Amino acid sequence: MGRIVQKFGGTSVGSVERIQNVAKRIIHEVDAGNEVVVVVSAMGKTTDELVKLATEISGNPSKREMDMLLTTGEQITIALLTMALHQEGYKAQSLTGWQAGIQTEDAFSNARILDIDSKRISSLLEEGHIVVVAGFQGLIPETKDIATLGRGGSDTTAVALAAALKAERCDIYTDVTGVYTTDPRVVNSARKLPSISYDEMLEMANLGAGVLHPRAVEFAKNYNITLEVRSSMSEERGTLVEEEVSMEQNLMVRGLAFEGNITKITVSSVPNEMHALAELFTILASNGINVDIIIQNVLNEEKTNISFSIESNSLSATQEVLAAHQGKLGFESISYEQGLAKVSIVGSGMISNPGVAAKMFKALSDEEIMIKMVSTSEIKVSTVVKQEDMIKSIETLHDVFELDARVPVQNT
Ligand code: ASP
Ligand code: MG
Repeated sequence: MGRIVQKFGGTSVGSVERIQNVAKRIIHEVDAGNEVVVVVSAMGKTTDELVKLATEISGNPSKREMDMLLTTGEQITIALLTMALHQEGYKAQSLTGWQAGIQTEDAFSNARILDIDSKRISSLLEEGHIVVVAGFQGLIPETKDIATLGRGGSDTTAVALAAALKAERCDIYTDVTGVYTTDPRVVNSARKLPSISYDEMLEMANLGAGVLHPRAVEFAKNYNITLEVRSSMSEERGTLVEEEVSMEQNLMVRGLAFEGNITKITVSSVPNEMHALAELFTILASNGINVDIIIQNVLNEEKTNISFSIESNSLSATQEVLAAHQGKLGFESISYEQGLAKVSIVGSGMISNPGVAAKMFKALSDEEIMIKMVSTSEIKVSTVVKQEDMIKSIETLHDVFELDARVPVQNT
């Protein structure tokens, strides 16, 4: 007998019929002799609708009340799904995040899970219950306040529970059939991957591929839990996210990620001193501004230019912070370029294959796509291009790295 965690996303539980369909999937595992813990998201677009309601009341709602509001979505799903399981004649009980013993750090809206006291879940399982847990929420132990784990955080609830309960498997049911080489809605020839490594998945998730919450991948990596990302609407096997993934023949790149709405800021003529970079980025960080790619351009012995990219919606905040510290930082002027996008290639095959970045740059320049910024890690290369060139860049790179041509995924 195995212990498994199944997670169902918002689309999978978006209606009464779908909740009943999910109940059947769960029962299938129970009948096979497994102990099952289920994690669910809010139904359909509930969370977005709740966010909208809040913004109709306040332009700047309290974070505590926001979390109080948003966690209600998952609570609806756990009760309905548990009723559906009862209806089929199975023992089941729903638990909110705090009833399930999920403890978070003292931070609203994007809290990390610090610990899980899984006693209550374990004893329910021992009594033969299916346990249905609300995703995306936990309790701050010091204050007994409810905190959410950030949008998409139900994935993290599922993987964290799988770790705490030493589950054999963690299946993430979503509205796509797996992890693709890139977004199939954008590139027709995008292909479902049979498997992807934790590190590659982490890069993809952090670079804007929405299929898994990045912290869920971190948990899976740290506790070595194999995830399967698959669809609740089909029997097709999904994508395995695991430690070791064999490289398909000659494949240096596993997938492409992209994201729009990026702005490049250039701070000109900063004094070229030892502490200049530290000072600038400390000020930005302490004001909550998330900086991505950084480029330093030394002009001469005295002066340097510093460019960095941010999400476009933090442009005005960034300008304000910089203006307020111009005296201290000693720069001459700020300029910015909006309407940019980040296009990245990801693959552990590039560690041992030189020339991957060169191939990327050549492919883009052959299409006359101007690269504005670059950043790399061992297993990714990101470029910033004009947003209007984003789709063309992705299509070009998908072709050049032959991402569509590999062995098809085997279905069972
Ligand atoms: N319901 C939350 C959201 O929409 C959490 C989740 O679905 O994972 O972000
Ligand atoms: Mg999700």
